[in-house]
Order: sequence, then structure tokens, then C-alpha cells
Amino acid sequence: MIKEKKGAILIISGPSGCGKSTLLKEVYKDIDNYYFSISTTTRAPRIGEVNGVDYFFVSKEEFEEDIKNDDFLEYAKVHDNYYGTSLKPINKALDEGKLVIFDIDVQGHEIVRNKIDSLVTSVFITTPSLNVLEERLNSRNTDSIEIIEKRIKNAKAEVEFFQDYDYLIINDDLQTAAKELVCIANITRIKTKLFDKEKIVSNWLSN
Ligand code: ADP
Ligand code: 5GP
Repeated sequence: MIKEKKGAILIISGPSGCGKSTLLKEVYKDIDNYYFSISTTTRAPRIGEVNGVDYFFVSKEEFEEDIKNDDFLEYAKVHDNYYGTSLKPINKALDEGKLVIFDIDVQGHEIVRNKIDSLVTSVFITTPSLNVLEERLNSRNTDSIEIIEKRIKNAKAEVEFFQDYDYLIINDDLQTAAKELVCIANITRIKTKLFDKEKIVSNWLSN
């Protein structure tokens, strides 16, 4: 069977604190041949976060230099910090036929959609309610009250965009949400537009 010519992109967005990182950690064991896109950010690392694993943590000046050099597939200002996706590792992973997973905000999703729509599948993740989101942000214990308030304000605006996405996951029970995310990751790999039409058809005709 002929494989996909290129890899695919799975974009995950949702309010900070809804459980995106927790869910991703839960599903990696069930997804084949993926590459998680490590974003670059100017925000300070949280306790436990590792440079080059969770993010590439850089200064505002370094980030702005990368913008000038056209290094980003997309970037945006979120909660007063820059966040961006570097182009090079993404192209490499796509050429290797990988499923490239992005955890980016709604602005980044729109930019990537406009640039390479045919490769993209997207999922919006949220909590059952705003109250649950507040509880999770508080219990995560990583951010100050001011930062949490900013994230909650941002969350109210972000949820308005959920219908721009292909799928919606309400992360209530973690295992249920994880199963849904694995299904979406698998479906992402078999979208018709990812296949090389000429090869598929000629192979089908000659066998
Ligand atoms: P995000 O990556 O979206 O900012 P996190 O993965 O850091 O969110 O999760 C925020 C907090 O919510 C963490 O303390 C995490 O343990 C908790 N959490 C995540 N998913 C669930 C869930 N389904 N039920 C209860 N708590 C959860
Ligand atoms: P956090 O600071 O909680 O890790 O992330 C804050 C927000 O920034 C989340 O909504 C996350 O999806 C988003 N984000 C992380 N990396 C990127 C990126 O490279 N580009 C964009 N546009 N958003 C990102």
C-alpha cells in the first residue's frame, strides 16, 4: 500500500488550564510516528518545565530576531508573551511522514489554516465549564492570581472560536477525553488530501 506523501498536522487549542498537556501525555503511547512541535516563547518557565522539552525559552529580543529572519510558521502574542512555531523542524517532520502535533492558541490556528489548510485537522479542548477551568488553574498551582485572572479573561474570548475547529473535546473524565483524542489522531492520518492521487490511482489500476 502506498503511504502518504507527506505527514499531517494536528492542531490542539483550548484555554490554558483545560488539560491539553495532561491529555497529550496520556495519549502519546497510543499514537504512531508523531512529532510534538516544541514552541518558542518569551514567557518564564514554570517550575518543572525544561528548556527544549516543554518550550524553547528565549528573550523578547531573540524572539523578535527570529521574526525578522522569517523563522516562524506562525507566532502570536498570548497573555502578553510571544509564542511561535519554528518552520524548519516542522518541514522536516512532515517530509518524514510524521503526524505533527501543535499545541497553539486560536490565533496560531487561524494562521496555519490559512497557510496549509489541506494538511490540517484541528481539535478544540475545553473543560465542562468556566468554574471547572478556574478550579484547574488554581489547583495546578503554577501561576499567580494576576496571571490566572488574565488566563480566565482570555479563555472567555477563546471559547467563542470553538466552531472554527473540526472537533470538540470536553475534557471532563480524562480517560474518555484521551480515547476521543486518539480517535481524532488516527482519523487525521487518513484524510484523502494527504495521499498522492496519481500514485494511488495508478497503483490501484495496475494491481
Ligand atoms: P493546559 O496544558 O491546557 O494548560 P494542564 O494539562 O496543565 O492544562 O492541566 C491543568 C490542570 O488540570 C493540571 O493540574 C491537571 O492535572 C488538571 N487536569 C487535566 N485534565 C484533568 C481532568 N480530566 N480532570 C481533572 N483534572 C485535570
Ligand atoms: P502556556 O503559557 O499555558 O503554556 O500557553 C499559553 C497559550 O499559548 C496556550 O493557549 C497555548 O496553546 C498557546 N501556545 C503555545 N505555544 C504556541 C505557539 O507556538 N503559537 C501560538 N500561537 N500559541 C501557542
